[in-house]
Amino acid sequence: MYGLKLRSVENTNPYEELVKLFLLPSQYQIFTDHDEPVPEGTEIFSYQGDKDLLKRQLYHALVQRTGKHPKWGILTGIRPVKLARDLYDRMGSLEKVRAYLEETYLLETGKARLICDIHQYQRQNLGQPKADSVGVYIGIPFCPTRCLYCSFTSNQKGPEEIQRYLSALFQEIQFAGAQMKESGLKTESLYIGGGTPTTLTDQQLTDLLAHVTRSFDLSQLKECTVEAGRPDTITPEKLEVLKAFGVGRISINPQTMHDVTLERIGRSHTAEQTRQAFQMAHKAEIPVINADLIAGLPGEEPDDFQASLDQVLELGANNVTVHTLAVKRSSRLKELDENFHYRQPEQTEEMLERAADTLRGKGYEPYYLYRQKHTAGSTENIGYCKDDALGLYNVRIMEEAQSIIALGAGGITKVYYPAENRLERVPNVSNYEIYIERIEEMLERKRRNLFRR
Ligand code: SF4
Repeated sequence: MYGLKLRSVENTNPYEELVKLFLLPSQYQIFTDHDEPVPEGTEIFSYQGDKDLLKRQLYHALVQRTGKHPKWGILTGIRPVKLARDLYDRMGSLEKVRAYLEETYLLETGKARLICDIHQYQRQNLGQPKADSVGVYIGIPFCPTRCLYCSFTSNQKGPEEIQRYLSALFQEIQFAGAQMKESGLKTESLYIGGGTPTTLTDQQLTDLLAHVTRSFDLSQLKECTVEAGRPDTITPEKLEVLKAFGVGRISINPQTMHDVTLERIGRSHTAEQTRQAFQMAHKAEIPVINADLIAGLPGEEPDDFQASLDQVLELGANNVTVHTLAVKRSSRLKELDENFHYRQPEQTEEMLERAADTLRGKGYEPYYLYRQKHTAGSTENIGYCKDDALGLYNVRIMEEAQSIIALGAGGITKVYYPAENRLERVPNVSNYEIYIERIEEMLERKRRNLFRR
């Protein structure tokens, strides 16, 4: 057991996040000024007014103790590209940003270069959001089954129960649309996610999109995404509905192309259904098809992951997001094996490195990146796109420089205040039954905290 005492530190959480990159929770104990006496051999670190300095001292001590060299250095936040943007705004040179990331945050050169490249890609291709523009998110919290690693609001219900939810959701869509028009807010990107929106029947999907089209000012809309995540929920009829309403981007999420893994992680579809879904999407001429893959799934080796990636590229995804498996709170995986992510970090890193080589080799560019806690090797999720078939909404939500209006159960609206460069959260309840019961209160929350200006 490694004992470390943090002197003059009240909140140990940011430091513990760093320690966890090196050691299992059972391998260390953190003490503060309130703990006296401390066990013999406890290493003492003192806070001297600079959080990053203390983190660097901790990092070096842990490298020495464990031999590990986490590539993200002392950076534990989930939005490193946003950090690169803020530094660039201050320093005005990517070279300076890179050097600062390496010196202050101890980032490995490759990671510093990566986030600078992504920042530059975003700056060149997307620019800044307009002051009167917002992103709109609509949540459909239903899926055919629940995945092993899922921590989202996902319920398994039939069409009648889903219809009850939609009735409440339509109220919120109409309300938000009317308020936005009154406030002069224009939708720049629209994202219908969940859950799996294509769990809805053809008619429900038609009604949903008809409500959206009627309610919002879409004159400035640049992107409309519908997550069709589960290949087994996709039909030619549903794709026709999406196409008719001008949906230009869908997600078909194989996660893996190995049936044995799909069964292990509790997904109810096969790799063959993924192939068919891609064929249908191409036939429907949906311009941007995103595919999510997960590195580090139980039982998979780097060659398995590579084979999935190769197949997805052959199927013609022009937008690929490479995730690393995260053991999240409230997932079944956490209940079964809460330390799963501490195993095989090297294997997961190998998967990500091979994926980056393959994708870049085939002309895909990394366009957005975020990190999650509790992943193997504390790695990152990267969105790659070919021919600029990117995901605008994904970038905007990570930038945190635009309001995102989130509708439906589990939606968290983020109101952006540019003068102070800060966000205020206005959450809806995440349980869909409570959402239905308390829909008036959800509208009131938005009226008070979002549309009062
Ligand atoms: S498809 Fe997504 S939202 Fe649905 S159960 Fe799986 S992880 Fe959760």
